[in-house]
Amino acid sequence: MEEFITLAHGSGGRKTSELIGNLFKKYFANDYLTADDAAVLPGLSGRIAMTTDGFIVSPCEFPGGNIGKLSICGTVNDLACMGARPSYLTCSFVIEEGFPVAKLEEIAAAMAKTAKEAGVSIVAGDTKVAGRGQVDGVFITTTGVGLIEEGADLSGAYAKPGDAILVTGDVGRHGTTILLARDEYGIEADVTSDCAPLWGTVKSMLDETKDIHVLRDATRGGVGTVLYEIAEESGVGITINEADIPVDPAVAGVCGMLGLEPLYLACEGRLVVFAPKERAEALLKVLKQGKYSESAAIIGEVTDDHKGRVVVRTPIGSETLLPPPGGELLPRIC
Ligand code: MG
Repeated sequence: MEEFITLAHGSGGRKTSELIGNLFKKYFANDYLTADDAAVLPGLSGRIAMTTDGFIVSPCEFPGGNIGKLSICGTVNDLACMGARPSYLTCSFVIEEGFPVAKLEEIAAAMAKTAKEAGVSIVAGDTKVAGRGQVDGVFITTTGVGLIEEGADLSGAYAKPGDAILVTGDVGRHGTTILLARDEYGIEADVTSDCAPLWGTVKSMLDETKDIHVLRDATRGGVGTVLYEIAEESGVGITINEADIPVDPAVAGVCGMLGLEPLYLACEGRLVVFAPKERAEALLKVLKQGKYSESAAIIGEVTDDHKGRVVVRTPIGSETLLPPPGGELLPRIC
């Protein structure tokens, strides 16, 4: 195979078959992935969750992952947030002419590895090649279907006063990693993306209790944006304790230097959990034993007052409003 992707790889002809046969099939092979026009799948019996997401992260590889891993995690985690075990996934590539085949192979390998870990099969795909400059590197869209666990009933509208709020790990790592990978600030710090498939994390919580009201993955806008979304969707107030928010020291250092709020930096492997206060300690215990949630913490509670707003309680006991999400988010973070 050539070293670089050419427009012929997207022509639908021999070169496209070669690319699919030599590269994608090698990594994605499973019984459902055929040469037919659509995958034919065994039925899922029960409530089904379905979602789709596009990935355009720049740079397309970064400490802790690449766009391939991210494209699986993003969709799998959105399914998991509805209490759905990821079952099937499709992926669609738009590749820039001249993109190195070796890099594409790394991306496909990361997708296969992550899909395997998440227990999801890649059952259909599409490849298009765009001319130089018409896209930047590679863009991937994934669509996923999952079966919702019996007894799970989750929604951003279900937070209730008296709920405890947990995060499943330290916040802001993905955003900080991408920022440093772009090398625009000349800052060096040892930060890796938290990018991870979280069905296992969700399953362990659901096995502990189905009495969970909201799960949401804190992606683009970070945990701060999720808190505002839930306050709005559920019509409740939120109070968080500043001292309880887990932040990696290196992330805190970078944020300090650049004047950034870690609560507003993207995560790709963190969930915000709302559950009745009585369940919080048991959930925390389960999370602390998990592979991707050792640094989980209870960060606050849902209140009846200051509806629609997120209040931060400082270590000295004073309360300030968390500035609502606005403008300054980094582009092309996922
Ligand atoms: Mg989401």
